[in-house]
Amino acid sequence: MKPLVLIDVDGPLNPWAAHPKPPNYQPFDIKVGWWRKLRIHLDPGHGPQLRQLAEEFGAELAWATTWSHRANTEIGPRLGLPNLKVVEFAEQGWKYPAVARYAWERPLVWFDDDFGLHREKNREFVHKRRHLTTALIHVDPATGITAEHLAEARKAFSRNP
Ligand SMILES: [Mg+2]
Repeated sequence: MKPLVLIDVDGPLNPWAAHPKPPNYQPFDIKVGWWRKLRIHLDPGHGPQLRQLAEEFGAELAWATTWSHRANTEIGPRLGLPNLKVVEFAEQGWKYPAVARYAWERPLVWFDDDFGLHREKNREFVHKRRHLTTALIHVDPATGITAEHLAEARKAFSRNP
């Protein structure tokens, strides 16, 4: 089965808590509504790095972010990422129920900065997937995804199953 790499935007790709932003990040102003702009910071290196990770393990890249489908229009193109599937959240329990359904029995690497929330749901999610590779990789929103996080992902996929 095709392994899965899930990507959150705010935190892992847009290090909102970094002051100042590391030099590899570039500012982008995203239009939200008619007159408001939201400034985010992205590292163009992340696109190729994530694509390479997915290629190495024959994995699918997908979005798991509250940006939802806007990740494909506002974020992906700025990183050189193709159009990706979007995990949609429609219920209680944070992202876990929707991710559990989408990932199903597939090995999973998931980058997010909010695994510390909803600890009970987190334990439940990990427990139900205990027979499967399940790497919830916490990314500090003050750093964004670094080489260490990518190494952690490779290590997880290199283990079986
Ligand atoms: Mg986030």
